[in-house]
Amino acid sequence: MIWNEAKECMSRDEMHNLQSKRLVKQVSYVYHNVEYYRKKMQAAGIEPGDIRGLEDLTKLPFTTKNDLRDTYPTGLFAVPRSQIVRIHASSGTTGKATVVGYTRRDIEIWSECVARIMTMADLTNEDTIQVSYGYGLFTGGLGAHYGAEYIGATAVPTSTGNTKKQLAMMCDLGVTAICCTPSYLMYLTEAIEEQGLLPKLKLRRSINGAEPWTEEMRKQLEERLHIHAHDIYGLSEIMGPGVAGDCVFHKGLHVNEDHFLPEIISPDTFETVDDGVTGELVFTTLTKEGIPLIRYRTKDLTSITHEKCECGRTTARLSRFKGRSDDMLIIRGVNVFPSQVEAALLEMGETSANYLMIVDRVNNLDTLEIQVEVDEKFFSDEIRELENLTRKIAHNLQQALLIQPKVTLVEPKTLQRSEGKAVRVIDKRKLV
Ligand SMILES: [Zn+2]
Repeated sequence: MIWNEAKECMSRDEMHNLQSKRLVKQVSYVYHNVEYYRKKMQAAGIEPGDIRGLEDLTKLPFTTKNDLRDTYPTGLFAVPRSQIVRIHASSGTTGKATVVGYTRRDIEIWSECVARIMTMADLTNEDTIQVSYGYGLFTGGLGAHYGAEYIGATAVPTSTGNTKKQLAMMCDLGVTAICCTPSYLMYLTEAIEEQGLLPKLKLRRSINGAEPWTEEMRKQLEERLHIHAHDIYGLSEIMGPGVAGDCVFHKGLHVNEDHFLPEIISPDTFETVDDGVTGELVFTTLTKEGIPLIRYRTKDLTSITHEKCECGRTTARLSRFKGRSDDMLIIRGVNVFPSQVEAALLEMGETSANYLMIVDRVNNLDTLEIQVEVDEKFFSDEIRELENLTRKIAHNLQQALLIQPKVTLVEPKTLQRSEGKAVRVIDKRKLV
């Protein structure tokens, strides 16, 4: 089934015209409603009239996470607060969140986009969908939830954690599909196998996203749970989950192109690259009212194809993500920047700025250990004092990162010093 055949199967010419028309409108909208953008475009010598269609897209300046930071919290909003019905946020490089706002119409479009992705994954109003993404400022939970309700399915909002309850709901309610991070589904899979619950499950599909995963992991999940596992992509700056997702043929992620205009650029030259060539994914929102973004650099690396898919959809498809062009880590679905650790440590004063993050995947769950060098004058032979300090550091880091790291204190001047760029991260997960 296809949720919105008129949009998902339109000819490439029709899509081109629709995107052109919407781009012209969106550029004029941001120019007239967002002072920051107006100034940025004026500085680049561009007026809304210069953008007459897709062919003029590359004249527009890029938007980056820095722009969101500079205008924190709501400087890029294009409507007054009275028209914003929802706020979400994600973590930023300095520990300051990136705040996004949605109008009622934005929420409606978001729900439709997720509904398309769920329909792509063969879900209908006959399904019972457990949403095991976090509900809260993170877009995963509520995003998937609204999509599930939109297609008329029964949504079960278990959110994250409490594996026992997750499994009870799955068994007792006959849950047929689950939305969560792939690593969490793998964790659940092990619990299901240990407890011999597989015969009690009616699970047939999963929709997994919010962190990079491999084909290998998809195959494992599918074989061990007897399901089809689908990929979903999104980012809060652009909307949340539902920007793109893969159909039953698993030949790349279909982009909801009538709302989000994708470009792939070379991260070095910023020039557009050809179909099939890996580069950085850039999105321009075409219909957003709350916080429209022009040419937003996602830092995610992928390639694109515009060939028609076997499923009948004509929308462009993104290949499996190949990583990122900056130092952001995705740990248990949460964005983590090494600079956040540095900032939190430096704020405390008892530690030096020398630290090492060790990311691993144990029993299919991401783990984060942070080794911290203690400042000489605070280093003590008293075990109790060191324990207190460890707890304090762990608490502060958890506040900053929104995930719980394991903290290990090391003696002053023991972490390896390197010339040039310091090695701050060892990522032992094999994702690509
Ligand atoms: Zn398809």
